Amino acid sequence: MSASASYVCRQFVEDVTAYLDGALPEEVLLLVDLHLADCPHCREYLTQMRRTIAMTHALNDDDVDAMPADVRDRLMQAFRERPD
Ligand SMILES: [Zn+2]
Repeated sequence: MSASASYVCRQFVEDVTAYLDGALPEEVLLLVDLHLADCPHCREYLTQMRRTIAMTHALNDDDVDAMPADVRDRLMQAFRERPD
């Protein structure tokens, strides 16, 4: 059982904006970092979110839900197909 087993991709999808804002509690942050070390899907998701946020910041500081739907769907699909 890996160290990241207590944290799942679905949680990361929910926590990613708080993660990028530095708003996660320290104990959750630890789980996220362990999970990211272990999960290429979430690393890609994080990269996409950072890119999206960097783009949308120029337009609207609050609009972090602007990830293109197709990108989000593709990543969610990848999460679902992950055999864990
Ligand atoms: Zn993951």
